[in-house]
Amino acid sequence: MVRVRYAPSPTGRPHIGNLRSALMAWCFARHHGGRFLLRIEDTDTARYVEGSVEAIYDSLEWLGMNWDEGPVVGGPCGPYFQSERLDIYPDFAERMIVSGDAYRCFCPKERLDEVRAGQQARKEPPMYDRHCRNLPASQIERLAESGIPSVVRLAVPLEGATTYRDAIHGEVTFENGTLDDIVLMKSDGYPTYNFANVVDDHLMKITHVIRGEEFIPSTPKHILVYRALGLEPPIFAHVPMVKAPDGSKLSKRYGATTLQEFRNEGYLPETMFNFMALLGWSPGTDEELLSREEIVRRFSLEGISKSAAIFNKDKLNWMNGEYIRALSVSGLTDRCLPFLKAVGLVSEEAQASRNYIESVIALTQERLRTLNQIAEFADFFFTETVAFDEKAVQKWFRHDYVPEALRRVRERFTALEPFSTEAVEAAARLVAEEMGLENASKIIHPLRVALSGRTVGPGLFEMTAVLGRERCVKRLDSAVGMLS
Ligand code: GLU
Repeated sequence: MVRVRYAPSPTGRPHIGNLRSALMAWCFARHHGGRFLLRIEDTDTARYVEGSVEAIYDSLEWLGMNWDEGPVVGGPCGPYFQSERLDIYPDFAERMIVSGDAYRCFCPKERLDEVRAGQQARKEPPMYDRHCRNLPASQIERLAESGIPSVVRLAVPLEGATTYRDAIHGEVTFENGTLDDIVLMKSDGYPTYNFANVVDDHLMKITHVIRGEEFIPSTPKHILVYRALGLEPPIFAHVPMVKAPDGSKLSKRYGATTLQEFRNEGYLPETMFNFMALLGWSPGTDEELLSREEIVRRFSLEGISKSAAIFNKDKLNWMNGEYIRALSVSGLTDRCLPFLKAVGLVSEEAQASRNYIESVIALTQERLRTLNQIAEFADFFFTETVAFDEKAVQKWFRHDYVPEALRRVRERFTALEPFSTEAVEAAARLVAEEMGLENASKIIHPLRVALSGRTVGPGLFEMTAVLGRERCVKRLDSAVGMLS
């Protein structure tokens, strides 16, 4: 039975690189009919950020990545917050002390700082100098009894190497000489990430640890803990980093980094799922648009690449446009409404004008890349008056025939029955002909500016029909008024 987990530390809103690793674990579990666990690794109280646990739930739910065991849903291996499991870890640490695989360290902070400063000056990697590793038992007892605070450290073998087989990277070897005697238990009784992570993966019967590549250097230390406790380590699969196009770390410079930001910009969850799955995983073909079901069906660790995944915003925008166009008008309207409401273009009681909103959405569906663009593309459908683009006015309102042309169009509009796309078009063309203008574009452009304030937008006649007679006549009146 495959059992995998997502084990975030609540240190802020989850980033897409981090969630992408969770997504791969989720797909792996679903592909194999296994279990996906959520475990909150909150033993570093100093780094805890208020609200991050909720943001973790929210991100997973929004992406449709339900968890089978974990907070909220419970499960047989709970509690799923490490801070609620503090009574579990000391026994494991004690076992390691007894077997000689761990030891108590009483070094005060000042001494550790001094050691580190010396190493820095000599340009050596910072490592604990193992001062307490061979203290005689009697001295340890004395120190402990005198109440001097202590931590528990891993006794890394002094020679040899630690090797493990990574499902993605193959054999990975670290010389033991490069490994630090890391802290397993802190003086306040909390375990460190490295220790609690191993103990819990064991107790929660995790079969595959699927996580980001940045944890490769910690893995040999985890392996040493498993061995010391006589436990079989899980299979490790370290997924590649997500990088910016220039190879640097993904940062604000390339747009959003937390999932919440992408959501606020109007990317659909189905886009994000598809896009994130392809950050480092490939179905083995060039296909790019894959549904969640299809990704799960085809998912395998073999499809994960070793090299960094490049975050390509253009591809994300393209993909979002594809998913937006695949929605029904009504479905897209549901998704756009929160964005229209957020900027005050549509009010809470908007349900009454649902038909109107849907026809507006239908006109913009083709051009939308992100849902938040709806406000910019469609504001004039919802505002009382038109905000004129200065350049558009200068370009299309400066000719002498314009006021008269707009006045005549207005007259015809008042009489049109029905006020349809075809009727509107016929009316505009008729006015161009009547006035002896060489072509209809002489009317079309100023008309668009009068009705929307700008030069680009959806098809003019469709747009006019959707705006409706009343709004159009009013807007033509003010344009004519402005020009006379
Ligand atoms: N708590 C670690 C993190 O925040 C989890 C690492 C792991 O998955 O083992 O990323």
